[in-house]
Formats: sequence, C-alpha cells, structure tokens
Amino acid sequence: MQFRDLKKQYQVLKPKIDEAVEKVMTNCNFINGQEVTELEAKLANYVGVKHCITCANGTDALSLAMMAWDIKEGDAIFVPDFTFFSSAEIVALSGATPVFVDVEETTFNIDPAKLEQEIIKIKKKDNLTLKAVIAVDLFGLPAKFKEVKEVCDKYNLLLLEDGAQGFGGNINGKKACSFGDISTTSFFPAKPLGCYGDGGAVFTDNDQWAGLLKSYKVHGKGHNKYDNIRIGRNSRLDTIQAAILDIKLDIFEDKELKAVNEVAKLYSENLSNIKDLQTPIVEEGYYSGWAQYTILLKDKETRNKLQEALKEENIPSMIYYQKPMHMQEVFRDNECDNKDLQVSAALCNKVLSLPMHPYLSKEDVLTVCKIIKKTLV
Ligand SMILES: *Cc1c(COP(=O)(O)O)cnc(C)c1O
Repeated sequence: MQFRDLKKQYQVLKPKIDEAVEKVMTNCNFINGQEVTELEAKLANYVGVKHCITCANGTDALSLAMMAWDIKEGDAIFVPDFTFFSSAEIVALSGATPVFVDVEETTFNIDPAKLEQEIIKIKKKDNLTLKAVIAVDLFGLPAKFKEVKEVCDKYNLLLLEDGAQGFGGNINGKKACSFGDISTTSFFPAKPLGCYGDGGAVFTDNDQWAGLLKSYKVHGKGHNKYDNIRIGRNSRLDTIQAAILDIKLDIFEDKELKAVNEVAKLYSENLSNIKDLQTPIVEEGYYSGWAQYTILLKDKETRNKLQEALKEENIPSMIYYQKPMHMQEVFRDNECDNKDLQVSAALCNKVLSLPMHPYLSKEDVLTVCKIIKKTLV
C-alpha cells in the first residue's frame, strides 16, 4: 500500500500526459510556452479569482506575496504554529518577524480568537509594525476565513492564504485559494493537485499586486526581462509542468476530488466510536480536498504504538508535524509565549496521517481500519 499512489495515477493518465509532454518536447518551448498562459487562465477560472501567476514552487509563491507587499524587517506577520515550515520560513527570509498563533484542536487551523489575542499582545509591545496574517488550509481543510478576515479587517492587516494543501477545498462553494488578499498554492507531486516536479501559483483579484508578482518572478522586469526595475528572482513554472497540470486539473475536478472525499468518508465511518481515537472534523459548510487524512490519538505512546503496528503490516503512515514552529531550533528566540501555543505542541504528539489518495481502494481502507481497531481496542 502506498501513502500517496502517484504511480497508479500516472498509469490512468499516461496516454494523455505522454502526448502533452511530447508536444512540449517537439516544440522546444520549455520556458513561457503557451501552455503556461493557458493553465493560468484555467486555474484562475477554477478558483474564481481574476489573476493566477504561476511560479517555481509553493514556497516561492509565498515569498512573492511577501515581496509584492514589501514585507521587511520590523514587520510582524502572524503565522499558525502548526504547519509546514515554509509558511514561517518565508516570513523570516523577508526579514520580518513571524508571530506564532495557536491552532484549533478540531480543525488544525489557525484559531481566530487566539489570533486576536496575539495581535493585541504585539500591539502593546509596540516594537513591530503589524502587517499581515498567513492562514493555512492544513491537510486540505480551508481555514476559518470568515472569522480570520474579521480580525484582519478590525486591525487593518493583509490576509495571505497558504493554500499549498488546500487546493480543491471550499467553504459554502467559495473555493480555496480565493480567500486571501493574495492566496498561494503548491504543485509539489504529493499535494492535492501535483505536477511532476516543483511548481506553484499565486492568486489575487488585485491588478496592482498581480503586476508586481509578474515582475518579481522574472528578475524584477519592467517592459521585458532585460529591463529591470526592481530586485526580483527567477521563479517560473516549466512549460512541461503546465502541460501536465492542464491534464491533471481536468481529472482532479471530474473524479479525484470526489474520490478522496469517498475515502475520507469510509475511514471516518469505520473509525468512529473507537476509544482514544478522534477522526478529522469537517464543520458544516466546509469541504476538504483531503491533502491528508489525519487522526488524533490519546497520547504520544498510543500514537507511536499504532504507527508501529501499521508498519508491521506494511502500511505507511506519517507524522505531520513532529514539531510546532515555535520549537524549531531556528525559531528558538521567537516573540511568543510557549504557554499560549499548547494546542499546537500537544497535536504534534497525537497526530497520525493515514494513507490517502484518490486511487485508494475500499479494501485497502478497510484493512487499515481493521489494524487500527485491533491495536486500539
Ligand atoms: C508544501 C507546502 C508549502 C511549500 O510548497 P513547495 O512547493 O514544497 O515549496 C508551503 N506551505 C504548506 C502549508 C505546504 O504544505
């Protein structure tokens, strides 16, 4: 059993993907081919925003947003404590200070009430300029954007949606990657919509920021890349990756998104009412793209025991994430009070992500559930 079965997906899509890749090879338009422009239009339309700007990966997508907003030293950016490293890394890389905010135990996403508490604290200290909030759609579930946006508006902060795991999710029909003033995603192979290498995209309705993002991703270009009006970087999506994503987006929309939701439903039905085990909670109105299916165990000992039992039966599982941001060595000297980040710290001891992908068979799901029950009951 695979944790995320990319080989199976390729077998299903092989004729179409091979043809699309061969076309790019034949044309030799490896950079800035028309496939890239076409994909950007298709992605913007799918997500429901005006502009999509593709780039080299999901981390660059976040960095480009920092650049478009001129985030720099002395700025405070609020980031969930429980997330992948990139969400905070790009803040520090810009010279600004990441301020870690605890998450909800139920949704794993940034806690809007605690966000406001942290904002008030930093405001009182008066040593940083409050600039933006990064909300992450962790494990595929959109963050609580209505509540987060209210806090952002109250304190005049920009909102950045890190939708690297969120692509395909929605809240009452409004799609992930449309909730931020700027939103980003990643096409890393194991993400909900993955390409065959690195890739990423930035989304916004704002014309001025879209212009800046297009410039920053190509050496701060003006009229063209030999006319340089700001310091940028080189961050493009390869034409081959765009051609692959064009095909993958169709099947993602038609089949895969439904398929992962079926898998999640089957897991949750079979894992309900097990002592010491909590299945993921998707609140009313929310739809997850299931980047991960993550269960919560009673404590570290139970979690590790279960992971060991699964491993003995050749079933892969992962611990996302082992450490909260505030405990990462590099962020040791952070602004935060550890006692305010206890949910994130506790989650790291209790989470376990199970095999999850659109091609996971019913039998495989039931096998995983059976081993879990046998181990815990
Ligand atoms: C994967 C991921 C990223 C970074 O994406 P890359 O394409 O790997 O650079 C950023 N944020 C989150 C939450 C992620 O899961």
